[in-house]
Parts: sequence; C-alpha cells; structure tokens
Amino acid sequence: MKVLVINCGSSSLKYQLIDMQNESVLAKGLVERIGIEGSILTQKVEGRDKYVIEQPMKDHKDAIKLVLAALVDKTNGVIGSMDEISAVGHRVVHGGEKYAQSVIIDEEVMKSLEDCVKLAPLHNPPNIIGINACKELMPETPMVAVFDTAFHQTMPEEAYIYALPYEYYKDYGVRKYGFHGTSHKYVSAKAAEAMGKNIEDLKIITCHLGNGSSVTAIKNGISVDTSMGFTPLEGLAMGTRCGDLDPAIVSFLCKELKITVEEVENILNKKSGVLGISGVSSDFRDIENAAAEGNKRAELALTLFNYRVKQYIGSYAAAMGGVDCIVFTAGLGENSPETREAVCSGLEFLGVDFDAAKNKVRGKLTEISTESSKVKVYTIPTDEEMMIAKDTVALVK
Ligand code: AMP
Repeated sequence: MKVLVINCGSSSLKYQLIDMQNESVLAKGLVERIGIEGSILTQKVEGRDKYVIEQPMKDHKDAIKLVLAALVDKTNGVIGSMDEISAVGHRVVHGGEKYAQSVIIDEEVMKSLEDCVKLAPLHNPPNIIGINACKELMPETPMVAVFDTAFHQTMPEEAYIYALPYEYYKDYGVRKYGFHGTSHKYVSAKAAEAMGKNIEDLKIITCHLGNGSSVTAIKNGISVDTSMGFTPLEGLAMGTRCGDLDPAIVSFLCKELKITVEEVENILNKKSGVLGISGVSSDFRDIENAAAEGNKRAELALTLFNYRVKQYIGSYAAAMGGVDCIVFTAGLGENSPETREAVCSGLEFLGVDFDAAKNKVRGKLTEISTESSKVKVYTIPTDEEMMIAKDTVALVK
C-alpha cells in the first residue's frame, strides 16, 4: 500500500510517497514559491539525481498537479500511475478540541477544519486548500487528517486552562492546545522502544528543537503538558518567535512604538526569538558561528535558548514527579551536540549523567547518557511523515 503524505504551508508544500509494505520512502519533495514568481518543485529519490521542475504554479492545486506528474513521470517518477496511491495523509495544524485522533476526511471534518481557522489563521487555511486540491484531483482516493494538536488533547485542565475569566475558554476556546504532537508522540514511542520498556511505565520529556520549538511532558504514554499554547507562539524562545512573555509588554510596545496590536504580534512571531536577540539570523548554525567569532548577542541568544529548555525540563520533571528519559529531536535537537550538552549541564540533580563523547553525533538515534545514568537521554530523528502515513493506513484499512 502506497501512501502520499502532504504538508501544505502558505506558499510551500512538502510531500513524501511511502510504501507502507516495507515503510520505505519512494520519493520526497518540496514545492516552493506557490502563487509567487519563481515556483519550483524539487523531488528526491534515493540513488538518483534531484528532479527539478521550474514552472509557474498559481495555487496549491497547480502544485499538487505537478507533484502527481513528478511521481508518475516516465524517467524521474517512481510509480506507473496515480491509481497506485491508495490513500493521502494530510498534516493539519489545528484540530481544536474536537480531534484527539487522526480522522478520515469527510464533509463534516471539512466543516470542523473551517471552524478551526479562527484558532489557526496562518496554518489551517493552506491545509484546507491542500486537501481540497487533492480531493479534486483524486476524488476516489481516501484522505486522512493528522493533527498537530491531537496528541495534546490528553492534558489535564490545570495544564491547559489559562488564568483568564473562565468564560473565554467556554465561549471562545481560549486554552492551551499545544503543537508538534505528531513528533512528540513519535519520538517518545521510539525512546520507550530503545529503553526496552513499556511507554505506559515511563515519564518522558521530549524536546522538539527546530525553527519552531516545544517541550512536552509525557506520562504513561500521554501528553500531560506542553510548552506551546493557544498558538505556537508560547513557550521556548524560537528561531523568530518570542515564546513566554509578560502580556503587558504588548500594550507597552503599542504605545511606545505607536503601532497596532497586529504589528506587535507580527514582531513577536517573525522578528523575535534568537533572531531578535542576536540580530544575526534565525538559523542556529549562523548564530553558533557568530558566537564562536565572539559576537556577544549571538552568545546571549544561545544561552537564553538553552536556559529556557532547561527550565521547561525542570518544570515538567516536577509536574510528573520525576523523569526517566529526556529526548532531543528536530533540526537542532538532532544536529547540535552543543545545544544538547548545554541543556543537560546542571541537570545532574535530576539524575542525568550526560556522556559528552557519545553526544558527538548527528541525525541518528543515540543514547547520549552514560550506562549508569538514572535518567536516560537520547537524540532521536523525528519522522512526522511516517507517523502520518501509519495513521492513514490504520484508518483506511
Ligand atoms: P527544523 O525546523 O526542525 O527543520 O529545524 C531547522 C533548524 O535546525 C535550523 O534553523 C537550524 O537552526 C537548526 N539546525 C539544523 N542543522 C543544524 C546543525 N548542524 N547545527 C545547528 N543547528 C542546526
């Protein structure tokens, strides 16, 4: 059974075609600059040169048409016809309170996704456009929605309610939802497997550290707290997002800079985080290089980032009454030994015995704590696409 996984952003689209018989990725690709000049599709197939198509794509439907064409292309494709695609799994950012699981997409689900646009105005619209485009081009193929928020629907009330007038939760859905759920779920399951233990007996803290970053407390296999909130702006400092902040700063900046609330929100989302502090870049590689050359603000951005991750680990260990395992994943968590070492230094009091030699690794499931460490530490590559494909197969079978 072959499953196409689609992850639509506002002007980009990532895809993978996965053969679920042996869980192998047949092709993966990225379409960029959809609806703007210079649209480009890049497809990668193991052992072959990249296949690049540069042609105008006015919308996501054009992009998906081209993805399908690339997959069935006689020379560069990997399947004979579109009929070989048994199902499509869509990454959907926000499922609100309605979806604690992945779901087969039907008319009612589409309506619920529309209802969630208010909660995720930047993310859900491109997801919906992508689903509609696929439905038009593959009307007979079953489609599944896999939500970033679903895994966190198990959080207890005290973790997800904000200390605001309670009616705002009831009337407007203002609560913590959490994101990156597919990734947290995947790496926590992998960690339990690597430890040879049942996830239901473990307290795990997963650190998804990438351009967007979040930490999750997973007790007995379920999410009990997570650092992102009502939107993906809360929690850790990120590439360009501010993370936790005194909310009074918003009105202060409005008055001082004579700008609107929307303009402040834009600054908090796009010009803050390690980019805002360092003034160098949102990419940690650039910041690490600048810090190594003596740039003090770059150094501060990294120190602050690591400090916040450490704070969340401490807080979640307290929330769960201990921790058995800490996992680092995503771009930075998988590829930056420096970040992992800085975050774990000082956590000896929790029972972490970090192994700096084992930590010199990138992009590979590795235990980076000592044999005798009470708390196991791992770096584990995330694979959201495989999770989406697995959920898709489970539902359509
Ligand atoms: P993601 O959002 O998970 O794709 O992660 C992207 C981020 O990971 C980039 O912005 C980089 O900051 C970071 N990253 C990727 N590779 C490395 C590396 N080798 N060293 C440090 N940071 C990295």
